Amino acid sequence: MSVSVNEWIAQRIKPDQISRYLREDGSDFIDEQQIEADLASGQHASAEYIREIMAKSLRIETLTPRETAALLHVQDPQLIREMEQTAAAIKKKVYDNRIVTFAPLYLSSKCVNGCKYCSFSTENGEMERRIVPMDELRREVQTLAGEIGHKRLIVVYGEHPDSDVDYIVDTVREVYDCVFKTRKGVGQIRRVNINAAPMSIEDLRKLKEVGIGTFQVFQETYHKKTYTEVHPAHTLKGNYDWRLYSMHRAFDAGIDDVGIGALFGLYDWRFEVMGLIYHTHELEQRYGVGPHTISFPRLEPAHNAPLATDSAYLVGDDDFKHAVLTLRLAVPYTGMILTAREDADLRRKILPMGITQTDASTKIGLGAYSRKHKEQESSRQQFVIGDSRSLDEVVREMAQQGYITSFCTAGYRCGRTGTKIMDLLKCGFEGQFCKLNAIITYREWLDDFASDETREIAEPLIRKEIEEVRLTNPKMFPTLEDYYQRTCDGARDLYF
Ligand code: SAM
Ligand code: SF4
Repeated sequence: MSVSVNEWIAQRIKPDQISRYLREDGSDFIDEQQIEADLASGQHASAEYIREIMAKSLRIETLTPRETAALLHVQDPQLIREMEQTAAAIKKKVYDNRIVTFAPLYLSSKCVNGCKYCSFSTENGEMERRIVPMDELRREVQTLAGEIGHKRLIVVYGEHPDSDVDYIVDTVREVYDCVFKTRKGVGQIRRVNINAAPMSIEDLRKLKEVGIGTFQVFQETYHKKTYTEVHPAHTLKGNYDWRLYSMHRAFDAGIDDVGIGALFGLYDWRFEVMGLIYHTHELEQRYGVGPHTISFPRLEPAHNAPLATDSAYLVGDDDFKHAVLTLRLAVPYTGMILTAREDADLRRKILPMGITQTDASTKIGLGAYSRKHKEQESSRQQFVIGDSRSLDEVVREMAQQGYITSFCTAGYRCGRTGTKIMDLLKCGFEGQFCKLNAIITYREWLDDFASDETREIAEPLIRKEIEEVRLTNPKMFPTLEDYYQRTCDGARDLYF
């Protein structure tokens, strides 16, 4: 077995699928000296300049690295408040009061890498190693789609021959095929996003064919020295540029819906934000499309991975909020994902800063949804999460705050991806479809899964949303009324 694992490892990285993207001098697009210079230049920005930058964000234009660096150094509490207001205004303009929800689904704890912050590292001899077989996968999806009511998943895999692209394709297909009877209709996962190791263009084409939603790879840290320290050089993940160009390969494989991210806590948080901005610019310039989502996971404690708690760069709550705010302003059109790594209290505070997606009823142990254990099992999962509230509780709380939870998955099924969705988002037009789809999918979920308590709080909100469509979108209103009535009568998956 170990020989075949080694053979598999030896064939994974395709050097020509890195070199083709490098600059003529062999360098990549993360120029650390330039980032340091940007950061230094941002230190003494005037209040007037900061306000000009905020006005640009409000026009839904991507900020330059220098502008981003200036925001990263704002300290004046009044300007911070203005940044928060601008972030909320951008969110309202592009995504209105909708928050999309999803659940992570971990399918493999086998991994050939040795990331120093992760429990799945090969160095951790106490981790239970396995991949989830198909019958257990169906039980997991039954709990998620048939009992909790999720419509979107992010499916997460370790890097290992047993969970290679063929396993990923089989599991995605299986997830899409599962349909369960609910109170009034049926429950089904309609969008499977993937978080997996970097792949070759050939493998990525297979993911495109099976119909994945977003392809997500986090660079973890954009700082090269730190990257080398936390990802041993002899491992696959030790190759910085193979990872850095994951999204380029995805675009070249026809996947135009990609998610980038950095793991905050490995290196200076301001540097990581700059890395994400340079990554965004590179994708915009080369492919005409920026990232569909940006994630900002923060290091959480992980079994037998001391770096997760000992790192010299752990990010405190205030700096974390500042990073999120800056990202919201710097890439105004992108989806921003806040995960259950953070506890409920912080999530409540950060949500209004322009978050568009969040997970709920989260469990990250393999098979944990169908096992229905209440407690987290640290020796069976990648790290420890901070918020394990149920989807029902999260939907209810968001309704109390005026947010409608959207279970919409229409965009990619209608071909609204890549440049098409970017253009629609930038001019605010995508919102028209999203609002309608949010209403329909909220209705579905309330009828199929919500507790009485949640329904009671959500009904006035959904009525308010419908009234807004009547007033602002009279052309579409009759169709909405028709779809809404049919959904109340038990029809499912009607979308715009
Ligand atoms: N194995 C693949 C990889 O590393 O790209 C797939 C996903 S990995 C299971 C998912 C993500 O979890 C990683 O990209 C990393 O950012 C994050 N992660 C790893 N250890 C973590 C920790 N201790 N706390 C928070 N997030 C962590
Ligand atoms: Fe493996 Fe991903 Fe964990 Fe690294 S972060 S050890 S690649 S599962």
